[in-house]
Order: sequence, then C-alpha cells, then structure tokens
Amino acid sequence: MGDCSKQAREMLANTGYKVTNQRARILEILLENTDKHMSAEEIYEIIKGEKGDIGLATIYRALELFEELDIIHKLNFGDGRSRYELKEEDHHHHHLICSKCNGVFEVAEDLLDQLEEKIEKQYQFKITGHHLKFYGICQNCVEG
Ligand SMILES: [Zn+2]
Ligand SMILES: [Zn+2]
Ligand SMILES: [Zn+2]
Repeated sequence: MGDCSKQAREMLANTGYKVTNQRARILEILLENTDKHMSAEEIYEIIKGEKGDIGLATIYRALELFEELDIIHKLNFGDGRSRYELKEEDHHHHHLICSKCNGVFEVAEDLLDQLEEKIEKQYQFKITGHHLKFYGICQNCVEG
C-alpha cells in the first residue's frame, strides 16, 4: 500500500508539477487498481469516506491534468463513463468488451506490430499509434 503512495508521489514529482496530497491520492488509487479501468465516480467512491474530502470535480480536474501530463489515458467502453488507465511505457494492450455483462478484459499482447509494418510499407505511412477494441460475449456470459 505504501508502495503505490510513494510511486504516485514520484511520478508526479517527475512531471515538475506540484505534488498535492489530493493528486497523489488519486494517482495512488489508479496505481492500486491498474487492471480495473476506473471511472472518476469509482475513484470518488473510494475516496469519499476519507479525511481530506476530495470532491468529484477535483477528481475530474486531476484526471484531466494526468492526461495532459501523459501519465494516464482516457478510455471509452461505450457505457457512458470515461475510464482511465495508466500509460505503460514499453507496451500497451487491447480490450475485449462483453456486450452482456459490460465486463472489460485485457489482451496482453499487442499482436499488431506485423500489421503496422505491413501498412507502413504498403502505404508509405509512418504509424505512431492505433486504437482497437473488440466487442463480443465473454466466457462467463457464453456459459451462463
Ligand atoms: Zn460477459
Ligand atoms: Zn486496460
Ligand atoms: Zn495495440
């Protein structure tokens, strides 16, 4: 637990921005829930009972700042809420979205390197990124 708190403070300090307790706490929660794709509301639910009392608006502002600072990125899974995820430096992953339970599952490998190479060659286009989401029905929902 202390580890995430320390890591959050270090990450913020590295950006050159002022490390406030509120910002550090919000980033800490993201670090503690790396696989959960937290929304601002979910972060708020965790923070609500704590002293210091961070409001939802503050959380939104902090998330916007983190996005600008390139620490996190915003995701949209079509459930009407923006969700946030920490940026990974050396690799990223893709998401499988279940249309029955709205579950979001991660695909660890990128799998698109070869495709990017092929497109770059064929279209003389320097690719710097891509977005990809898969929609379908998860294992639990197929069985249920
Ligand atoms: Zn499902
Ligand atoms: Zn993810
Ligand atoms: Zn990818």
